[in-house]
Formats: sequence, structure tokens, C-alpha cells
Amino acid sequence: MSDPCRYFDHAATTPLAPEALDAMMPYLIGQFANPSSPYASGRAARRAVEDARAIIARCINAEPDEVFFTSGGTEANNWALGLAESHLVTSRIEHPAVLATCTYLATTGCATAYVDVDSLGTVVPEAFERALRPETTLASIMFANNEVGTIQPVRELASRAHAHGALFHTDAVQAFAHVPIDVQNMGIDLLSASGHKFYGPKGVGFLYARRGTPLRPFIHGGNQERRLRAGTENVAGIVGMARAVELSMVRLEEQASRETELRDRLIASVLRDVPGSYVQGHARMRLPNNASFTFDHVDGEALRVMLEQRGALVSGGSACSSGARTPSHVLRALGVPDERAQSAVRISLGRQTSKEDIDYLARTLKELVELLQAISLP
Ligand code: PLP
Repeated sequence: MSDPCRYFDHAATTPLAPEALDAMMPYLIGQFANPSSPYASGRAARRAVEDARAIIARCINAEPDEVFFTSGGTEANNWALGLAESHLVTSRIEHPAVLATCTYLATTGCATAYVDVDSLGTVVPEAFERALRPETTLASIMFANNEVGTIQPVRELASRAHAHGALFHTDAVQAFAHVPIDVQNMGIDLLSASGHKFYGPKGVGFLYARRGTPLRPFIHGGNQERRLRAGTENVAGIVGMARAVELSMVRLEEQASRETELRDRLIASVLRDVPGSYVQGHARMRLPNNASFTFDHVDGEALRVMLEQRGALVSGGSACSSGARTPSHVLRALGVPDERAQSAVRISLGRQTSKEDIDYLARTLKELVELLQAISLP
């Protein structure tokens, strides 16, 4: 960041990797041709798009013609959910890009079953299976939750969906390029991802759809993306995203173990030193970079603002609607009481996060939580 703030909100977005920017620059300035143009520079742009498709396909063990470029995770989710006909199964802790699409689908006659999660944020396979009906065409369960970081038993869920004749989609926006994903091995039929969550540019993402999936045209117009998603390709964005994917894949294990160590250091010191503190989500099956906390007798928005004043940017856990703060639907689904859920802060680490950053955050959290608890208690 250009200001001296310490950034702990990588689940919201990540900075663009310099290597991704370098890869994009030629396509923004000199090589600006349209990939559909027949002359040499157009053909070069087409090659760049197709090379990017092949790179991304390789990373999830898919074929290039199973990857469709989109404007990001929201679009990929909307597109995938369009495969639901009369009945869809999802979870209560999905991102609004899935939940709001289900609400829309209800207006078209498609009903949704929302599966509960356990107190760690896991979709229990038996509960998932009970929600599947003969008319269920699609199940959509996120790979990892964006608030509490819990990673779902995707392979098990996909296999149960298939046993009931349903396709399995996963919103992998938080997980892709952070944890290994193999669509063959895991039985994933559709997967959504978004460039800006793994050090690529904003406004670009992709949908993986297994060959043979009856995808419907999503944006009507020209012949791009095999006539399923029309519109001139975001060449620079696609190239930058593919470069960011390559970099993430090379560093995947090293990055994940570094983040896991820092995350566990933070969690241990908060639980040890901050009175009335709780961590949400699964201890082991969680994103390497996520730590979600709640505190007794703390106003979460005050805590977030005070952390910002002390130079630490984190995400709050409650949504503000018409002046009133409503606790997050995710924390509610985990059974966190509303009074405590409104105190939530989500910390998400990244490549630049250092041990000093973590220790600073732990110290500052202790000081501010104690202060807020002291003024809230009679
Ligand atoms: N799904 C999840 C789990 C997310 O965390 C996000 C963004 O935060 C999205 C979908 C939306 O992705 P995009 O910002 O690319 O539209």
C-alpha cells in the first residue's frame, strides 16, 4: 500500500503482483489489437488469451476448453447457478454472489435448499445429502468460506451430489491459488475463481465447466468464449491473471506454510492474551491466511476503526444496512450469539505480512479490546 498502514484484508483483495503488471502492460499499450481481428497483431492477442487459458487449466488439472473467462467471481457464480432448473442445494454460509442469485432464481421457479453448517462452519456431508432431491440439478458449496476460512469436504460433497444425479459447483474464489485444487480428483463439475484474490487484476476471473456440462449462453452477442459469453476479451486482465496464477502455483506450498505459521502465531497470542476472545472456524481445515475473531463486550465497528487509526486494516464482521448493523449470516449460521457476532474482525494475511506485523496486531488488539471492554462494562 502507498500509506504506512499494515494491510490485513487480503480476503477482500490482494495487491497486483509486479510480474502480473509487467505481463499486462504490452496488451494495454502497444499490442492492443482485438483477439478476434484477422491480422497478425489480432492473432497474437488471441494466442495470449489461449496461452492464459492453458496455464489456468493446467493448474486445476482441466483442459483449456473447459475454462471460460468472466469479469470475476460474481459473474462465474451467476453463470454456474443458471444450471439449476427446479431445485438447487447450497449452504447457509455462501457469499452473496451465490445467495442473492438463489433469491433471484426463486423468482424463476427454482427452489433452493439451504444446508446448515456445524459450529466450525463445515457442511456436514450427511446433512448435505438429505437436502438432495430427485429434481436437484445442481449443488453449489463454496470451497472455503470468506469470513471464517473453513474449507469444505469438497470431494465427499461432490461424490454425494453425483450419486443423486446432480452437478457439483464450488465457489473457489477464496481458495483457488491458495490451496491445491484438482477438479478431476475432487469431482468438481464447475468452479468459480477471481483474479484479484490471488495477486492478479480486478475485473477478471473464470468459470471452469467440465466438458459436456450443458452451460447456457450467459451473455449474448459475438462469438467469444465459444459463443457462451460474448464480448471482446479483457486481454490484459486475462494475461495478468494467468501470470498471477503461475506465480502462486510456484509458491503455493511455501506461501501456505508461511501464512499458516503466522496465522497460528496470531491465533495463539490472541487467545492467550486477550480476555474474552474467540476464534471462529475450523482449527485445521481452514485457509492458511484467515483468522476470524470475536470478543465479549466489544463493539466490532469501534474496534475496526480504532485499529485503522493505529494503522492496521482489517475487515469487520457485520454488514451495515440502513444505519443498523446486522451480524453476519455466516457467524449466525455457526451459532455465534448476535451480541458477540457484532464484535467480529476478520484478519487475512498475505505475501507481505511479516512476523512484526503479526506481533504488532496481536499487541494492538489486546490493548484496544481491553479498553473497549472496560468502557462497555458497568
Ligand atoms: N465468492 C467469494 C467467496 C468471495 O469472497 C467473493 C469476493 O469477495 C466473491 C465470490 C465475488 O468475487 P468478485 O469480487 O470477483 O466478483
